[in-house]
Amino acid sequence: MSDYSDLLIYLDGEFVAWNDAKIHVFSPAVKYGAAVFEGIRGYWNAENATMYLFRLEEHMRRLELSQRIMRFNQIIPAETMMEATIELMRKNAFRSSVHIRPTVYVSGYGESSAQEPLGTFVTAIPRETPKKVEVGCRAQISSWQRIADNVMPARAKANANYNNSRYAGIQAAKDGYDAAILLNSRGKLSEGQGMCLFIIRNGVAVTPSVTSDILESITRDTVIHLLREQGVEVQERDVDRSEFFDASEAFFCGTGAEITPIINVDGDAIGAGAPGVVTRALQAAYFDLAFGRTNANHEWLTAV
Ligand code: PMP
Repeated sequence: MSDYSDLLIYLDGEFVAWNDAKIHVFSPAVKYGAAVFEGIRGYWNAENATMYLFRLEEHMRRLELSQRIMRFNQIIPAETMMEATIELMRKNAFRSSVHIRPTVYVSGYGESSAQEPLGTFVTAIPRETPKKVEVGCRAQISSWQRIADNVMPARAKANANYNNSRYAGIQAAKDGYDAAILLNSRGKLSEGQGMCLFIIRNGVAVTPSVTSDILESITRDTVIHLLREQGVEVQERDVDRSEFFDASEAFFCGTGAEITPIINVDGDAIGAGAPGVVTRALQAAYFDLAFGRTNANHEWLTAV
């Protein structure tokens, strides 16, 4: 188990020691998963000794959307969560890249449809880029289906939604794969566990649309921008699983997954079975941007 006991956590307006960050066992957050959260990366640029939080505001705006979809009675504004996060980064004074998790949860002692009162917390822990970003991953198309919008809206980054990808992830690992890909209730590609996906087909980048029961991923939006900047056509549409058989490349994207090449699906190699040229060029652009090497003043970066 990692030891984070030296770190501070933002909890309900205060900064408390890691071991003192507690919420009540009878809260709807604990009993029913009544909470929404974000995952944000901070990239430590050692050359200019600066931490760059990537697309901080967009993440906190999505946290507002998640609260609205979850019908919280009061919406904790993005500005409050941004301020708390920046202050937490200053107090913890990290000297390596981090993963930040802001959460808004239903506190008190209510039942499953309680819409208040709300509590907030923000954690940040050191986290480097996963090895799979370099070597790629082997994915399984899951027999578990992605939650539909009229079941549990995937557009909300709600904690309880993660039981869906949990089933798929556990099955994929048991079957010897690195990751799962979920189809939606219409049988179209949706996303991976905690990440969106793209395939490259005839030189065109194709990704499931925002009505494919995906989380409206901020990295997906970043990738669309970067690919277009590189002159790659991008299509957002329904994507069939059989399109993998004609794909020269594929990759997952997300805050945690960053840009992870998919080199094999269900035992069949994608393209040459190794990370492809479009994926590699995209990774280079993504990391140059996120670490503040392309433009340290980019509007997507918050320097701390
Ligand atoms: N889908 C799900 C279910 C996720 O949890 C994530 C990670 N937040 C993503 C997609 C990717 O979203 P983002 O690029 O905003 O991190």
